[in-house]
Amino acid sequence: MDYETIICFEIHVELNTETKLFCRCSTRYGAPPNSQVCPICTGQPGALPVLNRKAVEYCVRAGKATHCSINRTSGFARKNYFYPDLPKGYQISQYERPFCEKGYLEITGDDGNPYAVGIRRIHLEEDAGKLVHSANSFEESDYSLVDYNRSGVPLLEIVADHTRNHLHSVHEARSYLEKMRQILRYIEVSDCTIEQGQFRCDVNISIRPKGTQSFGNRAEIKNMASFKSIMDALEYEIKRQVKTLESRGQIFQETRLFDEEKRVTVPMRSKEDAPDYRYFPDPDLVDIEIDEAYVQHIQNSMPELPEETVNRLTEEFGIPINDARILVKDKSIADFFAACAGYCEDTEKLSRWIIKELFKLLNEASMPIQKCPVSPEAFSQLINSVSKGEITDNIGRTVLEEMFKTGGSPDSIIDERGLTPIHDTNALERLLDEVMEENSQVASQINQGMAKPIDFLIGQVMKKTQGRANPKKARELLHKRLPHFS
Ligand code: ZN
Ligand code: MN
Repeated sequence: MDYETIICFEIHVELNTETKLFCRCSTRYGAPPNSQVCPICTGQPGALPVLNRKAVEYCVRAGKATHCSINRTSGFARKNYFYPDLPKGYQISQYERPFCEKGYLEITGDDGNPYAVGIRRIHLEEDAGKLVHSANSFEESDYSLVDYNRSGVPLLEIVADHTRNHLHSVHEARSYLEKMRQILRYIEVSDCTIEQGQFRCDVNISIRPKGTQSFGNRAEIKNMASFKSIMDALEYEIKRQVKTLESRGQIFQETRLFDEEKRVTVPMRSKEDAPDYRYFPDPDLVDIEIDEAYVQHIQNSMPELPEETVNRLTEEFGIPINDARILVKDKSIADFFAACAGYCEDTEKLSRWIIKELFKLLNEASMPIQKCPVSPEAFSQLINSVSKGEITDNIGRTVLEEMFKTGGSPDSIIDERGLTPIHDTNALERLLDEVMEENSQVASQINQGMAKPIDFLIGQVMKKTQGRANPKKARELLHKRLPHFS
């Protein structure tokens, strides 16, 4: 039987506000444990929360960027549960009246067409503290320590809509997460660093026979450490559910954990003990009225979205749309390109060199472009030398490697390393003489009319000169000598 897969994400995103959601404690990551706490974020009796205006702005920004409608009246609710990382015994969240509802995020669907994935709601809530266990899990630990620095840090919760344009596959799931993260970074509400827990996903997954309408029981997978884990967990879970149904088994509604070592999902808790949170409106916080003028103000001050950047790069600098899409994946790379483009005549070459050559070096060094030792000015100088034919692509690559290592300028590296290109006819003729003499057999093959070994001879010239010879000119000169090929 054919099955349809239904995937639905709940994403928690830490906002990059300076201070927490309801107090003035710093949100800086990596500070000593419990050094960024106060009576409010540790839930001391009598302490009262005061809402962080910036967090509301960021939430509305995220809502506008994902085509949500912004509720005119919103409010906070208490979500009650007990856990040692939650000092108040409840989390301040939003329940019935979130800031943003009924939006969508456009991705490329499995059929290659644009697909608007439904978003049910985006709300604001506070993060919990962090437990540090003496063993791998709470259950096995002799003791646990708790760090409340994270307690009260503003979180966006973005809930996809399983009833409206849901995700169908692992591939669509990945596109959705990548696009979401890209947009949140572009609108500057979060850095979305997964390793620092700024972008955390829970995912619901169920299957049903193709063509049927009712939903099957869903499994929820929690706490995955990376995009790769999320994708592996989904892949495993789809297979498991299909296999279960095929063998006439039953899929239970349950929460499962992804075992990072065995790469499988395992049951964590069943629906029976799913917690009842007893939500009620937080009496310490008043309702928030958002008027049209405020929404307009946020809309007007919104940073450029990725699609807008793609349009700007193609229109202003005439680069191919596919190149623009690659550059725009990371905002800092798009910014680097734009900074170089001001100095470069051949912007298409510029984009190619960023994508092919600079990416390679950055990847090898696992370095983000923000830390790139090559400045946009120096990189543009190099591109200009290559596009004017002053140096060959090969030398360009060598120079770039050196620039990357030392941060030097292309001109000084070309000088120091003796990489000045050889265009001179006499010098090139002499080089051709040499390689034909050294490879007399190849030379005679060419003389008999074989074309293929020509590449070999030119290769030898390039090798001899460490890539400094102008290959186009050397080839022309070689052809001139050979009656078969002129
Ligand atoms: Zn505090
Ligand atoms: Mn939540």
